[in-house]
Amino acid sequence: MKIKSVTPFILHVPVTGGQIADSTHTVSNWGVVGAQIQTESGITGYGFTGTHAHLPSDQLITRCIETCHAPLLIGEDASDINRLWHKLARNPALQWVGRAGITTLAHAAIDVALWDIKAKAAAQPLWKLLGGQVRDKVRAYNTDIGWLSIPDAQLVAGAQRAVADGFTGIKIKVGSTVERDLRRLALVRQAIGPDVTLAIDGNGKWNLATCQRFCRAAEALDVYWFEEPLWYDDVKGHAQLARVTSIPVALGEQLYTTDAFAEFFAQQAIAWVQPDVTRMAGITEVLRVCDTAHSFRLPVAPHAGDMSQVHVHLAYAHPACEVLEYIPWIKDCFTEPADVVDGHFKLPQLPGAGTTPTASAWEKYRQVTA
Ligand SMILES: [Mg+2]
Repeated sequence: MKIKSVTPFILHVPVTGGQIADSTHTVSNWGVVGAQIQTESGITGYGFTGTHAHLPSDQLITRCIETCHAPLLIGEDASDINRLWHKLARNPALQWVGRAGITTLAHAAIDVALWDIKAKAAAQPLWKLLGGQVRDKVRAYNTDIGWLSIPDAQLVAGAQRAVADGFTGIKIKVGSTVERDLRRLALVRQAIGPDVTLAIDGNGKWNLATCQRFCRAAEALDVYWFEEPLWYDDVKGHAQLARVTSIPVALGEQLYTTDAFAEFFAQQAIAWVQPDVTRMAGITEVLRVCDTAHSFRLPVAPHAGDMSQVHVHLAYAHPACEVLEYIPWIKDCFTEPADVVDGHFKLPQLPGAGTTPTASAWEKYRQVTA
């Protein structure tokens, strides 16, 4: 399966309601920034990273794919995923300028595309290639009802609608003021009752003192996890918070490497592990984090920069993955959408990694890559 070409692409897909916000980001479109890899045997693979659809920075990623990574791949065997991962990640010139960031996001797209090719060549959905199903169902939790920009009444109505649709888990954003967020959390808990898991996500906005004050009051509301309470890289702060609150700390969506996760594991600063194949260098690196998490008996809830198109395969195959995020923005752009029925993700059936775009998405959302 010799690699014949590597072509970058960018899709910008509108989010629910035209715009959403959390404590840190305001997003109108989700960026699907990726690589299309063609082999001489006729199999085409797709992989992508997820962005805020900021075209200038998206184009840095596509330029990295095209001019830095692609020349190392042409003529190689696409099924040599482990060797090619190291060839790209340990390319001395590129490693010198970026062991994280643009270079890794570009690598993520390529690694996922290679897994897509391998699964298509085997005529199997990726979860089968990853060792097969470890669970009958993957429980979904709904994030799309819980943005910080949604007014209180609409937030409560959305949470109730999600539960009526079959979701047994939801997540709402925090990180505005302690008083406002506690009020919203209490309203939602009251509306959904005690049997639905309710997680919160601060997107790294607050400091330790604010998190401690918030957690003292929030503990009574049965919070499933507190995601990114503090600045993403603050290992010490997360460890301190974890020691003083009974609310489990979740994080990982902003971490690029296994080394970054290792610090959080070592300091017991993490209870829910949230790697993302679109942030780390693809499935290859995320599998390492999942295995390590499993060795500490910590559950994994992948962050869904891919809107779960790829992670649904991982969640069916890996014993550490207990629950998976549902945000429906881009699912209809793919030949097999990551759909949820009765609160659980459908088991993918088509060969590949779930990353093949439809012709109409390609037509409708494509942006210039340079
Ligand atoms: Mg998050």
